[in-house]
Amino acid sequence: MASVWLTGIALVLAGPVPALLARARWTRSVPRAAIVLWQSVAVAAVLAAVGSALAAPEALLRVFLHPEERTGVALAVAVGAAAVLAGLIVVRLVVVLVLLAVRTRVRRARHRDMVDLLARADRGDAVGALRAGTVRVLDGAVPFAYCVPGRVGREGRVVLTGAALDTLCPNELRAVIAHEQAHLDARHDLVREGFTALHKAFPVIVRSREARDTVALLLEMLADDAGRRRHGDAAMAGALDAFASTGRAGYGTDVVERLERIRSHVRGGRALAVGTYLAAVALVVVPTITIVVPWLADALPVVGIR
Ligand SMILES: [Zn+2]
Repeated sequence: MASVWLTGIALVLAGPVPALLARARWTRSVPRAAIVLWQSVAVAAVLAAVGSALAAPEALLRVFLHPEERTGVALAVAVGAAAVLAGLIVVRLVVVLVLLAVRTRVRRARHRDMVDLLARADRGDAVGALRAGTVRVLDGAVPFAYCVPGRVGREGRVVLTGAALDTLCPNELRAVIAHEQAHLDARHDLVREGFTALHKAFPVIVRSREARDTVALLLEMLADDAGRRRHGDAAMAGALDAFASTGRAGYGTDVVERLERIRSHVRGGRALAVGTYLAAVALVVVPTITIVVPWLADALPVVGIR
């Protein structure tokens, strides 16, 4: 029975829950807590899938064999099948994560070197007064900004185009740099990487873009909040507006949502954040206590562990 419950939980957490959570508006007011909730959904889904793979062979043994027949070869086959099924899920996830991490780091190291090489020292000095060290200015007619995360012992880079410097007023520029620096300081890239790996590792039928894309948007909102806290709502909204009105990407849905959120001064309440964190913990703890622990108490004696 544990296997059926865990399969059900894994499917619900991989499909309907992300769909509902992606449409929820309240998450926009507590982006940090909402990201933790998304991470909890992902962890709970993976744990449920692994638990279901571990419990399924034992459940079949119970259905088809009497208690006295659940020994010897039948038991060994069931334990082996459980280990292989659960191992496949874990190994696939780990391999996807490691490959993604290695490729991303190689690409980023090249990107950092390139940016350092091409940076305009004269214009960088102008920004240097605002934030020394990490900011690089590249030639470019389209105003935009982004960051290239560092690795241990090496700082990341905040990259701006010359057009961004020409377009934004000093306060908007400071807000943009604070936004990008927040991505670097809080290692938002690692959160994104985790969801990208999960997206790639999940089978196509249960895979959805919602988790990855919504978490990416929530991370942008979290970085916007850093810019707003330091330099005000008007500066952050002005910078976003300037980038969208003059940039190639224009006013995409994400930018419109972020602008609306800043302009309506959305800031999350403490109670909502605490409730969201509690829900995140419950998602992992409740199935463990109510399903996995009773199943282990039943199944371990069958394989001789008491
Ligand atoms: Zn950003």
